[in-house]
Amino acid sequence: MANRFVLNETSYHGKGAITAIPTEATARGFKKALVCSDPDLVKFNVTQKVTSLLDEAGLAYELFTEIKPNPTIENVQAGVKALKAAEADYIIAIGGGSSMDTAKAVGIIDRNPEFADVRSLEGVAPTKNPCTPIFAVPTTSGTGSEITNISVLTDLSKNVKSTMNDPLMYPKAAIVDPRLTLSVPPKVTASTGLDVLSHALESVWSVLHQPICESCSVHATKLVFEWLYKAYCEPDNLLAREKMAEASIVAGVAFSNPRTAGSHACSFPLTNLYGVPHGEACAMTLDFFTRYNADAENGRLNKFARNCGFKDAYEMADSITELKKKMGMACTLSEIGVKSNEEIEKLTEMSMTPLMERNMIPLSYDDIKTMYLSMM
Ligand code: NAD
Repeated sequence: MANRFVLNETSYHGKGAITAIPTEATARGFKKALVCSDPDLVKFNVTQKVTSLLDEAGLAYELFTEIKPNPTIENVQAGVKALKAAEADYIIAIGGGSSMDTAKAVGIIDRNPEFADVRSLEGVAPTKNPCTPIFAVPTTSGTGSEITNISVLTDLSKNVKSTMNDPLMYPKAAIVDPRLTLSVPPKVTASTGLDVLSHALESVWSVLHQPICESCSVHATKLVFEWLYKAYCEPDNLLAREKMAEASIVAGVAFSNPRTAGSHACSFPLTNLYGVPHGEACAMTLDFFTRYNADAENGRLNKFARNCGFKDAYEMADSITELKKKMGMACTLSEIGVKSNEEIEKLTEMSMTPLMERNMIPLSYDDIKTMYLSMM
């Protein structure tokens, strides 16, 4: 079967990329923006780096800065109201995955009001109209949401995270300026950087694997192993921030079509039940899945690991464990407060989602339970 490969329309990346925002907005004839961001980014003066450019260019906008980490359906509903009240015709999403994913859901509901209950969009969304145009401006080097058609939202009524994929939800432009990531605290740098690694690796062992994406995974993986720890230790090191921004966007290209698999499936309950930040939660099982998949499909992952400079996938798995430990990331379930067998059962149950079915070797409930028990 032929592979299909799709990306967003336009991307800018590198120092100074945000100066393209007023030019792009004017060229596209946009009249007024809703700027979606989060309160910490306002506190750290990051949102203002973009709004000051809009001010200088005399471009109209209103702010919506109520987005929370792991955004909820309520966040999206408040954003839809803010967009309507502002009478804005495009969105500038400034932030990590939380701001960008909220903006995407707001934009798709705005143009497809029959899906106002965003729960009906879980999985592959059945919408008809392209979402409100979005400029996605990441401030973490992590999710790659700026170039994907994915939005991940939390349904508090069930305490679960759900993923929405919609071909009509790609941001119009991804604007990746590494200077916006200089204020990211070390813990968040570590966690978001491990999200990059998860995207790069999971797309290799996904059943939707594509060679074109694997070449991006190699590049992103090498960059993470070379630069993440430096960015963690030296937050002001602009070169390290640039390299991690590059890794993030390239890993975004790597997973945008093959999607993610088991580590992301396990991350959702680890975040929802134990509050582990997204990338750290993905990385908790990343070394397990690396070893588990090492020899499958004629050793695809072993070859991949060699292309990344490791002896084999097992050596790469050991390096993941070491990197996590050096950055103080949780490696065991007891560190995050898991105590009982019942909790393991619940984690296992909640991990068995369609994402788990993308692993190139099928994993049963018992396989995942055994993995969690080994992580105690
Ligand atoms: P985030 O957006 O939740 O941000 C984490 C914290 O870092 C927040 O408190 C934020 O204010 C702070 N922060 C962000 N940038 C900062 C900066 N420059 N300076 C100081 N503080 C800063 O974190 P994230 O990891 O980028 O996004 C996680 C979310 O994205 C999760 O909900 C996850 O499920 C989702 N996700 C989406 C995709 C996708 O393709 N759409 C992929 C992976 C993950």
